Amino acid sequence: MSYTEDRAAWFRGQGLWTHVPEHEWRDWAWQLKHRLTTTRQLEELMELTPEEKAGCEHANQKLALAITPYFFNLIDRSNPDCPIRKQVIPRADEMVVSEGEALDSLGEDEHSPVSGLVHRYPDRVLFLVTDRCASYCRYCTRSRLVSNAQDYNFHPEYEQGLQYIENHPEVRDVLLSGGDPLLLSDRKLEQLISRLRAIKHVEFIRIGSRIPVFLPQRITPELCEVFKKHGPVWMSIHVNHPKECTDELRAACERLTFAGVPLGNQSVLLKGINDDVEVMKALVHRLLRMRVRPYYLYQMDLITGGSHFKADVRKGIEIIRALRGHTTGYAVPQFVIDAPGGGGKVPINPEYVESLSDEAVVLRNYEGRKYRYPMVTGVPSEVSAGSMGSESAGVWGDR
Ligand SMILES: *Cc1c(COP(=O)(O)O)cnc(C)c1O
Ligand code: SF4
Repeated sequence: MSYTEDRAAWFRGQGLWTHVPEHEWRDWAWQLKHRLTTTRQLEELMELTPEEKAGCEHANQKLALAITPYFFNLIDRSNPDCPIRKQVIPRADEMVVSEGEALDSLGEDEHSPVSGLVHRYPDRVLFLVTDRCASYCRYCTRSRLVSNAQDYNFHPEYEQGLQYIENHPEVRDVLLSGGDPLLLSDRKLEQLISRLRAIKHVEFIRIGSRIPVFLPQRITPELCEVFKKHGPVWMSIHVNHPKECTDELRAACERLTFAGVPLGNQSVLLKGINDDVEVMKALVHRLLRMRVRPYYLYQMDLITGGSHFKADVRKGIEIIRALRGHTTGYAVPQFVIDAPGGGGKVPINPEYVESLSDEAVVLRNYEGRKYRYPMVTGVPSEVSAGSMGSESAGVWGDR
């Protein structure tokens, strides 16, 4: 389907918001104000299955229900298995707690020196700047705090967080996340980014956001100016299914890249949604066409009430195997499991090394053919210590 046809599907085809003038539809404040947040509102627009109805009633104790009209329009209302629908409409399965699941499955709170700041890896921090999102993903890793349905009472501590980063010269990379940082006002974001930019040892700033997918209208020229002015700012968006790659998302990505924001994508492997080679292949190809580089594919974290989303890890490996070598290398994300309890992201790869010895490494290529690469023998050539060149003129970025 072409982007133009997608557009027709949301605006005219579904026929739900045809009375709304286009300038309102394109206004992110309008989209936020008209989010669907109650069972009743949903039922006015579609027929919920009994499982969905029960899930919606329960949502207030787990993770709030909210869907922007824009995103709702991508739902196939006649299909309970619609991959968009399953991501944002709660189901009764959310009430089922399975073995090994935990509220804070990644042990983030233990690695949190300041409320909202997670310092797990040596050189970078995760800075949670809000607990709000434009819509809520039912499989959200941070559902313990996001939307505050569980009375976690998250309050971002901007000043304390910034001070922590200032006082820790080893932190060279700051990842703004939440919740969704792009729900902050342009002014607040500009303040945060320029404060971070002013810290000498912070050389890499990035944002994790699903706003381009839920609320592409938020990517305004004014917001892009902030990124232009204080860039480079990198961004990881979060697209799970090719159906999310609409004309609006493509245009939002274009505005961001033209403002100098390099874009990556993080997907979560979700059972019955994208745990399928053809679906993932279509997704990564569409992403590249939108100038978005697939970055990570995550195995579902063990959050409470998430087991109905949990795909088989072997499926993830199969997907990567089906991509690597068979398509553009840029299209292949890294499959990872964020180790339960706080071990960090661990890469999971198909095995291409058949054997490894002092004599040779035996490889299997993407077609399954075997190749032998002999180990290097003989005397290593001398590399003089001074040849790395950090003293030489013209090397950029060394401080
Ligand atoms: C994912 C994550 C990061 C960023 O990891 P990258 O592999 O550099 O993208 C940083 N801190 C925490 C706590 C994370 O979960
Ligand atoms: S956008 Fe991200 S933080 Fe927000 S609900 Fe979805 S997964 Fe959670």
